[in-house]
Amino acid sequence: MSLIEITEVRKSFGSTEVLKGINLDVEPGEVIAIIGKSGSGKSTLLRCINGLEKINDGSISVAGAQFIDDELHLKALRLKVGMIFQQFNLFPHLTAGGNVILSQTVVKRTPKAEAETMARKMLERVGLGHKFNAYPDELSGGQQQRVAIARALAMQPIALLCDEITSALDPELVSEVLAVVRELATEGMTLLMVTHEMKFARDVCSRVVFMHQGRVHEIGPPEEVFANPKTPELRQFLGVH
Ligand code: ADP
Ligand code: MG
Repeated sequence: MSLIEITEVRKSFGSTEVLKGINLDVEPGEVIAIIGKSGSGKSTLLRCINGLEKINDGSISVAGAQFIDDELHLKALRLKVGMIFQQFNLFPHLTAGGNVILSQTVVKRTPKAEAETMARKMLERVGLGHKFNAYPDELSGGQQQRVAIARALAMQPIALLCDEITSALDPELVSEVLAVVRELATEGMTLLMVTHEMKFARDVCSRVVFMHQGRVHEIGPPEEVFANPKTPELRQFLGVH
């Protein structure tokens, strides 16, 4: 059984079908890069996996639990699967520590002391143990994104979804965030990441998914997808001829 099983998933907004029958099985510890043009459905796919969007057809199961369209199930899905966004979405009036504590106490109802211990541990893990009491505006963009990663990890997710998490960063701050992701990958975290960092995808990912017009257009190990693209759409996307 795969950790995440996505079967014939369809998603429409109004009359526009954005996901047109997605199939993807993710094994525990896999690191998958999702690439593709803007508008191809990458974010929508991640949002469906995380239960932020309801699917119209097909099924998504995570760790053996099938998720259907009711709120209770979607909430359970959100608890199991962490998500990190391009915008860090930290609460500006809370410290780094406070941000990492809050989701645990609110969403999981973790006791405060336990949540604080976990927050210290996770901030440590992303190299920010010394910034526990710093406010977001005292941190660089890269540090803020690492706090967001710590916050997601504190929820002890079984998989982490990353949606262009370095796209809003100044170029010199990208590598510190990717280094944290690389570390998580090494430790065996299951990761699905929408990314434009092709070198990173090539180095770290077990498989690359190329999405095109709401479908998985090509999928394979990075050395295959990047070195030997089979479709004209992927060749064009990669800029090779
Ligand atoms: P990508 O992340 O690959 O750029 P998205 O998943 O964000 O693509 O979007 C895929 C398509 O779905 C786009 O045409 C986008 O305009 C549309 N879309 C995404 N979210 C919504 C929404 N909440 N309402 C209506 N259309 C949406
Ligand atoms: Mg997107």
